[in-house]
Amino acid sequence: MIHGGAGALQHIQAEGSEEDFAQSINGILAQGRLKLQQGSSALEVVEYCVCLLEDDPLYNAGRGSVLNEYGEVEMDAAIMNGSDLAAGSVAGIKNIKNPIALARLVLKKSEHVMLIGHGAMEFAELWGVECLPDDYFVIASRIKQFQEAEKAGKMVLDHEDIEQEPQRKFGTVGATAFDLEGNLAAATSTGGIVNKRWGRVGDSPIIGAGVFADNETCAVSATGYGEQFMRTVLAKTISDYIHFQAVSAPEAAQAGIEYLVSKVKGLGGVIVIDAQGRCGVGHSTSGMIYGWIEQGGESHFQLT
Ligand code: ASP
Repeated sequence: MIHGGAGALQHIQAEGSEEDFAQSINGILAQGRLKLQQGSSALEVVEYCVCLLEDDPLYNAGRGSVLNEYGEVEMDAAIMNGSDLAAGSVAGIKNIKNPIALARLVLKKSEHVMLIGHGAMEFAELWGVECLPDDYFVIASRIKQFQEAEKAGKMVLDHEDIEQEPQRKFGTVGATAFDLEGNLAAATSTGGIVNKRWGRVGDSPIIGAGVFADNETCAVSATGYGEQFMRTVLAKTISDYIHFQAVSAPEAAQAGIEYLVSKVKGLGGVIVIDAQGRCGVGHSTSGMIYGWIEQGGESHFQLT
């Protein structure tokens, strides 16, 4: 399963047509399927799919990320392996072409789970991670969006309508996968929110909030208003529904979103695969962009 964010998507044409999103999501799902068929692990496949989403400027992750208060791209990402609960995460990083690949290196090569800012950049240099100049990441539509937010003196979510009280759009990306060996993994990557200040970090790189994977329960990737997902530890809460109530992925996704709404009036969405390979989606926003292939069947794309 992969997603490209949640929100009110009626005005999505500013970023790309529905056809552009369908092509992107279906193309990435096809490549993910091939990798799984060839025997790649769930962990490798979620990293691979999220790298492709980061490279696509349609989304708020990697190239095309939203801009912070200084007009810069500053990104967060995390990845988790369901077989041993190994996890890697980076926050407040710049100029890294694929933040999710750096998060995977944190998982593999460091004895830590989360690296931030300057230190994370030093770690990236140590391992020769691909860095690119600012102009690779900053695209014209994000400059306009940032200028509008700055003018309005607001910190806003990706493609929130700055003038009116919006139905918001959250353009973070993520993937969950179930491999031939029955392992689960999840990954999430984002540029965060527009005009963000003070080193703000959202849920995406927080294990248990924006991402979680455990072979015994499920793999989850979230998108939405990060602060609400952090306060409800939503990805782990969804895993707990499965652990304690033995529900399926669709039921757990639904229960998680109901919890998010009832506790903090949260806005966002999740993709979930459970330990039987069942796929579930839930969102409290009016729309969400996602796609899935269940039990090796047909590929489905959804932009609501
Ligand atoms: N969850 C992300 C954050 O709060 C935003 C998004 O999903 O687009 O940083």
